[in-house]
Amino acid sequence: MVSIISLIGAPGSGKGTYGALLASRLIDASFISVGDILRENSSRNKHIAKVLNSGALVDDALVNAAVLQCLEEKIHAKRIANTNQKYRIILDGYPRTDRQASLLDKWPIELHPKLAVQLDVPERICLTKILGRRKCILCNKSLNVNGVLDEFGFDMPPMLPDDNSDECRTLNCNPVHWKKRDDDTIDTIQFRMDVYRRETEPVLQYWEEKGLLLRFIPYKGIKEIDNLVSLIEKRIGKST
Ligand SMILES: [Zn+2]
Repeated sequence: MVSIISLIGAPGSGKGTYGALLASRLIDASFISVGDILRENSSRNKHIAKVLNSGALVDDALVNAAVLQCLEEKIHAKRIANTNQKYRIILDGYPRTDRQASLLDKWPIELHPKLAVQLDVPERICLTKILGRRKCILCNKSLNVNGVLDEFGFDMPPMLPDDNSDECRTLNCNPVHWKKRDDDTIDTIQFRMDVYRRETEPVLQYWEEKGLLLRFIPYKGIKEIDNLVSLIEKRIGKST
């Protein structure tokens, strides 16, 4: 039996990082990002590629079909490999609009998310974190050179190569190799934030009404992962 957990958060809230961590901490879980599904589809579909590059949202029906197909394939593969086993899928970025939520209502009931986790991070912090994002061109490591420490309790240190065993140190990478993403500019970030506020925030209401919303404030960034794991297990049970 599958339990899908929908992950919601503004650009820069740490959804991708948290999603991957959750998948490694929760028992028998995997992580699916709608961004990745769409990027995969965009190699075959020029329309999707164009919209993705503009930072706008891809048409809801198109996203819906791509996500549903990906989930069904994933579940089918799991069934063949191991019948009756419980497992979880962390779904990052769906549904992102009210229209997507109403399309999701028509999915087979077993695919309906059992829980929606909102990473609730103030916009100014998201902005700081996005502007600090870097990727090492030598070793491919994701880093963040910006930290946050404020009077509201947020304490998120920069994400840098951590010790001597870290590849980004042993390869002698250094900050000149750490590059920003082309689309991480103030203008595109602001645009993505506006889209989130307008299109995605209303979806929180949808989950609230179903009694499935778990709002989580990651004050100390990824150090809060254990707290989030136990909150999720309290809501949907352990998988063993
Ligand atoms: Zn490196």
